[in-house]
Amino acid sequence: MTSSTAAGVTTPAASSTPTTGRRGGSGAGGSTRPSCQADGCRVDLTDSKHYHRRHKICEHHAKATVVLVSGQQQRFCQQCSRFHELSEFDDTKRSCRRRLAGHNERRRKSSSDLHREGSN
Ligand SMILES: [Zn+2]
Ligand SMILES: [Zn+2]
Repeated sequence: MTSSTAAGVTTPAASSTPTTGRRGGSGAGGSTRPSCQADGCRVDLTDSKHYHRRHKICEHHAKATVVLVSGQQQRFCQQCSRFHELSEFDDTKRSCRRRLAGHNERRRKSSSDLHREGSN
């Protein structure tokens, strides 16, 4: 009789640590609290208007003529609801030049569009 030794399983001593799909983040799986995206601004937008929370901008910086965002001087465009470089604006306007130009065109268009006549 041959006694078959069932010792054929070798377990790898080195436990492979999964390095893939590691999500960095100290936040323990939760909703990120909305905060202003301006540099150094820690305003909690939880109680702010929906508009401010959506665009991550506090009321103060939404109206400021110069806001430092990621180290650059920018201004919040009320038309685009986002930050542009100061060069995109005229003087202290809060709408970028491009939008203002488009605005005028659209205005002209819509005004003529109001005259709905002879659609028979
Ligand atoms: Zn702010
Ligand atoms: Zn704009």
